[in-house]
Amino acid sequence: MAAKKVAVTGAAGNISYSLLFRIAAGGLYGPDTKVSLSLLEVDVPAVAKAMEGVKMELEDGAFALLESCTTHTDAAACFADADAAFLVGARPRSKGMERKDLLEANAAIFKVQGQALAAGARPDAKVLVVGNPANTNCLIAQRNAAGMDPACFTAMTRLDQNRAAAQVAAHAGAAVGEVRNVVVWGNHSATQFPDIAHATVAGKPAAEAVDAKWYKEEMIGVVQQRGAAIIAARGLSSAASAASAALDHMHDWIHGTPEGTWVSMAVVSGGEYGIEEGLVYSYPCTCAGGKWSVVPDLARDDFAAEMMKATEAELREERDAVAALLG
Ligand code: NDP
Repeated sequence: MAAKKVAVTGAAGNISYSLLFRIAAGGLYGPDTKVSLSLLEVDVPAVAKAMEGVKMELEDGAFALLESCTTHTDAAACFADADAAFLVGARPRSKGMERKDLLEANAAIFKVQGQALAAGARPDAKVLVVGNPANTNCLIAQRNAAGMDPACFTAMTRLDQNRAAAQVAAHAGAAVGEVRNVVVWGNHSATQFPDIAHATVAGKPAAEAVDAKWYKEEMIGVVQQRGAAIIAARGLSSAASAASAALDHMHDWIHGTPEGTWVSMAVVSGGEYGIEEGLVYSYPCTCAGGKWSVVPDLARDDFAAEMMKATEAELREERDAVAALLG
């Protein structure tokens, strides 16, 4: 079988430093499929040099599955023939930067990348946006990728889901593997809604294992603020868990979700659950045959409906702030 080509942007950054080695070790396509890595960085000499250092370490890993590794500062060259693309690189918020400026700085990056993906990636390429603001960066890339199926574009809320599942497991005294179908709705931001109404712990409704007051008054806030708590503790951002979640997201999209299991993926809304069509909104999804589908017809109470609308409202605002850049 021909090697799968995996493009990764922000290749000299922290998340990529964890992600690339796991892809090279077979964590994405499995132990029988070779991969070619195609790395992208900004055209700044010190950063491009750092990317070369990462490539040297990938060589030194002597990964049997790593067929080749190329480095680029041009998006079109990086994405040519890509089967999968992790869009990790993004402009970080600098001191005093307004949210609108951040959105615009990133919009310019993701516009170019959307065009480059449409021009050169495989028509069924799987694109995962990790760089923040991830949902809106994904929307911009998708809207600028003329001719490419919108379903190719997704953004990451899997880390939020993994964090919520870990909290539920710890609270219930269960193993995290026994927690199923925790859902994250909406934006990967502080307005996200981690929902355990349909989750199970060891096959029983989570509501029986988890205190409702703890869930509403503590857990949601802990998940929403977990990134900041890790920076406070470690002095660095949560790069390894973000890389792990990115791999989980893409792995399940490619290989499928186990029967009866959902995963949270921010996808282009088709209007499901009354959310505005076209926004990149995180839903519970199942994956099969390399395609995702939104889990239909889940009941939601007034609390859930309100939380889902609040995070939708934030996504509309973000979209409106970058309207000029939407293709
Ligand atoms: P990281 O690798 O730590 O993070 C990259 C992006 O992922 C950021 O936008 C970050 O958002 C986001 N992110 C999403 N979830 C998480 C999480 N749980 N924890 C941490 N980050 C998360 O950033 P670095 O600054 O180390 O590296 C970024 C690299 O991207 C730089 O080398 C830069 O040169 C490059 N870059 C490349 C581009 C390209 O390839 N064309 C374009 C722009 C930048 P947040 O900032 O909110 O933490």
